[in-house]
Amino acid sequence: MVDDLVPAAAAGGRAASAPLLGRDTEPTLFELSEPGRSAWQLRTTGVPDLALEELVPEAHRRDSPVALAEVSERDLVGHFTRLSHRQFSVDLGAYPLGSCTMKYNPKICDAVAVLPGLADVHPAAPANCIQGWLELLVELEVALCEITGMAAATLQPAAGAAGELTGLLLMRAWFAAKGDVRRKVIIPDSAHGTNPASVTLGGFEVVTVPSDGRGCVDVEALYSVLDEDVAGIMLTNPNTLGLFEEDIRSIADAVHEVGGLLYYDGANLNAILGVVRPGDMGFDIVHLNLHKTFATPHGGGGPGAGPVAVSDRLAPFLPGPRPTRLGDASSPRFGWTTPERSIGRLHSWHGNALVLARALTYVLVHGNDGLRDVARLAVLNANWLRKRLSSSFDAPYDRPCMHECVLSASSLKRATGVKALDVAKRLLEEGFHSPTVYFPLIVDEALMIEPTETESLQTLEALAGALERIVAEAATPEGALAATEAPHLTPVRRVDEARAARHLVPTFDARPS
Ligand SMILES: *Cc1c(COP(=O)(O)O)cnc(C)c1O
Repeated sequence: MVDDLVPAAAAGGRAASAPLLGRDTEPTLFELSEPGRSAWQLRTTGVPDLALEELVPEAHRRDSPVALAEVSERDLVGHFTRLSHRQFSVDLGAYPLGSCTMKYNPKICDAVAVLPGLADVHPAAPANCIQGWLELLVELEVALCEITGMAAATLQPAAGAAGELTGLLLMRAWFAAKGDVRRKVIIPDSAHGTNPASVTLGGFEVVTVPSDGRGCVDVEALYSVLDEDVAGIMLTNPNTLGLFEEDIRSIADAVHEVGGLLYYDGANLNAILGVVRPGDMGFDIVHLNLHKTFATPHGGGGPGAGPVAVSDRLAPFLPGPRPTRLGDASSPRFGWTTPERSIGRLHSWHGNALVLARALTYVLVHGNDGLRDVARLAVLNANWLRKRLSSSFDAPYDRPCMHECVLSASSLKRATGVKALDVAKRLLEEGFHSPTVYFPLIVDEALMIEPTETESLQTLEALAGALERIVAEAATPEGALAATEAPHLTPVRRVDEARAARHLVPTFDARPS
């Protein structure tokens, strides 16, 4: 076997060697490329090479080989390790990015996701060869239904927004089956941006309702737009101000009264795990972000998973095929079934399956009490920060919050010129990731801080101390300047976000210039 492995050319040449501190750029792999250099190569095993010419018709063959980067394994690993040191990550420190729930993810979830019995299974394997996988998926569905108080769930959607679209397609199918045509979906003005986007994608019209002075849905305004053209309402509870919608039962009754459905944006379930359930609040459809609450690292592109759980009456419309327990309890067998009036597939195969395995691991290692502790500590941490920071920033809604608190740098900006964005950039140099800024849109100079349950009191104190220092420094002209020009020490300073959006260049020309 060892003879079949041809070691690559030794490392060296143009490869970057110094640690990256102070460097502005890391070369791309193409710039590190040297002709003929490679990592490891597997020699043929003696089976004659299939003649490509016989397999691929001439018209479909390339004229020249693909221009791939040629680097040794050592150069390759060095490249990605250096890049990783230019990042902030959940493994490095506190990442209080409100609404995104960037918490530390237990390593046991990684260990499970690389088990060969799970990771190496072909998605097309017949059901009788993957009974364990199917049992895992069924068990996860049961757990998520128990956590949300719903009857059945689909594990297919790839992320929160995909879950939202699934939910809206379920709404459509539900009304279509009744021959009832409805056009409108109500969304509060504090909602996450994906909500109105999903409503539009799902073929409905968005009707926005304002928030009241306490940061909750203005119930009178809601009642005034309810009629029989309303397919439903999308609510986040706790909402994106981190506040619990106390009128949820009357809202649910009023929406049901006109025949509408209630959609729960459960992207952030940290606050309520094991404490209250959307199903008990009167919701009909719930999506969860397993990549936020259930321990899959996200940011930078996923993968995620946004399962959608529904009440009994919507179960026949769920996407299929679904992993299903067949037969009786004494001889459990698992297979696939497609609900009678299924809206069809929302993802190829079974969704992002290893994210699902991580989520079940997270649920099992925590158990009931552990999940409740997640919620208790997430809420405690957010309130500790809210209290501590209310003398440094404005508190637009000064009452107990759930898993995140929304503060405002409005007064700071008026007094010193230092904006929420500057505070966020300056915080990067203090060893913390920035909080979410300028969201929710209804709060001027918003700083949305979500410490999560995974941070200790010492970390919260250090984070609060850093924010207080930034505010105190802003009182002097030098301090204010330092903030408005921050960050100074990170590998990349302020990027022009508008330029990237306006002049999108998604390709890299690998040809030598
Ligand atoms: C993150 C988030 C979403 C969208 O989830 P994605 O997985 O990013 O598509 C929707 N709603 C809320 C409240 C969120 O925080």
